[in-house]
Amino acid sequence: MKVITSIKEMQQYIHSLKQDGKTVGFVPTMGFLHEGHLTLMKKARSENDVLAVSIFVNPIQFGPNEDFDSYPRDLERDSKLAEETGVDVLFHPSTEEMYPAKMSLTAVVHSRINVLCGRQRNGHFDGVATVLVKLFNIVQPDSAYFGLKDAQQVAVVDGLITDFNFPITLVPVEIVREEDGLAKSSRNVNLTLQEREEAPRLYESLQMAKREIDKGQRNPKVIEDLIIKHITTHTSGVIDYVELYRYPELDELSQLNGKIIIAIAVKFTKARLIDNITFDVKE
Ligand code: AMP
Repeated sequence: MKVITSIKEMQQYIHSLKQDGKTVGFVPTMGFLHEGHLTLMKKARSENDVLAVSIFVNPIQFGPNEDFDSYPRDLERDSKLAEETGVDVLFHPSTEEMYPAKMSLTAVVHSRINVLCGRQRNGHFDGVATVLVKLFNIVQPDSAYFGLKDAQQVAVVDGLITDFNFPITLVPVEIVREEDGLAKSSRNVNLTLQEREEAPRLYESLQMAKREIDKGQRNPKVIEDLIIKHITTHTSGVIDYVELYRYPELDELSQLNGKIIIAIAVKFTKARLIDNITFDVKE
């Protein structure tokens, strides 16, 4: 596995691969790799000649009171896991390499952001879109793999690829969970023991909600209340949001039908957890 920290070197390496007619699959990450990331990588590995992974904790997608400094990092462990998973090139630029000076131009996302995490994380998706424009230009992937764990991010990337005409296929990948149902996340290490025990209740509430919809409930407010009650009764977390939308458009719903997302965010002492399910509601 090649580990590259320089943008120029990465571009030269990718250029030589492209000249040899190789296809490139790309998994952008912020590191502290877990089974969720590795699942994206395995899928990308099986569908492309070359697997490129980036590890970059992107400062411009974190708000001033968010966890940029405390975001977990472990490059040595990550490199080992990446190598074992068949990564060909690990791109790990420094902040200075990616942002040597104040940018004169950045991306601004207009739709699919005034809901869910976008509502509270002002500018977050602008930061995500901006770094992805850079990464897509550096890595020039044929396909890019994103987890549905961050379903709003998938919706925004879908818009970015379409609107900016990137010749890239977006591949959304299902959420990978712990055995007890908790969605795998680099931030799970910041839960206390008690919070870790409570955390599976988040997915449990989503499953309960789906069962009610399967039984015929079509009122989003009833479903929302059910989830809120379950989480407040069984966890010490503070609910940021419980929301239901059409997916991937993220439009409001007065009645549940078609492809929908039920998404939640819950704040614990040192970690804010998100989870969601997307599925088709039959007429
Ligand atoms: P991150 O390092 O948190 O930016 O995540 C990098 C990529 O891995 C994103 O596309 C995430 O959606 C995806 N990812 C993170 N956790 C999971 C998970 N539990 N299941 C599936 N994909 C995930």
